[in-house]
Amino acid sequence: MTTSSNYPSSKGFLIEVPLYEVVKYEDADLDLGRQVVYFNETFDSYCPECNSHSIFERYWGQNKYISYESAGWVNRGVFSIEVMCTRDRRHRLFFIFKAVEQSLQKIGQLPSIADLNLFDIKKYSKVLERKYFSELTKAIGLATHGVGVGSFVYLRRIFEFLIEESHMKLSQEQAWDEEAYKKARMNEEIEMLSAELPDFLVENKSMYSILSKGIHELSENECLKAFPIIKVGIEIILDEKIDKVNKEKKLAEAKKALSALGGKI
Ligand SMILES: [Zn+2]
Repeated sequence: MTTSSNYPSSKGFLIEVPLYEVVKYEDADLDLGRQVVYFNETFDSYCPECNSHSIFERYWGQNKYISYESAGWVNRGVFSIEVMCTRDRRHRLFFIFKAVEQSLQKIGQLPSIADLNLFDIKKYSKVLERKYFSELTKAIGLATHGVGVGSFVYLRRIFEFLIEESHMKLSQEQAWDEEAYKKARMNEEIEMLSAELPDFLVENKSMYSILSKGIHELSENECLKAFPIIKVGIEIILDEKIDKVNKEKKLAEAKKALSALGGKI
């Protein structure tokens, strides 16, 4: 019987699992631990030195040694895993682990998980106010260190700001019912703003009911669980903004090119 779904993937353990989280492997699953300790896969990740995504593979140095015994890593103590960018083999990512009995713990890494993740959200700095963009990076940094409530508060502020932007726009319209909006809960607000918000958000508005809860009602774990959902909601709103900006830019360019052409014919 395998319980592999209870464990992070080998790649996930390197680049997604927060530092200091202890993963204990059952006797039957020691081989999954071995796949981390003797990590030998290629994977896609952001390379800070290329400043783009690249494919990474294990750098073994002089020490390539694979134990085929599942239990070979138990109680191994502190060890490091180095992976290299296949675009330029001098670009490396470093991970330090500790194996005590049948448990593995990541105790250090360079660059940080936040640095590896932040590249993918950089594009949003163009469509999000500087203050809120900085809060988005803080939220991700906190969440990657297992800080639930703190990271959630930042995301909630950004989400509410984006909802409020749509509210400001629609409240200018004749048919707008401000009294009803004031009384509405978060999922009803999203419904009322449906003309301005992405369809995905409107269709899945029940996901955001957690935003109506008071900060004191939320547990650390609830916040960490809700974090990816709220983050995706924010990203979808921002993706639409980027699309809109790009479309307007293209239209303006096409118009300019057309009028230049018209002048010649
Ligand atoms: Zn690189």
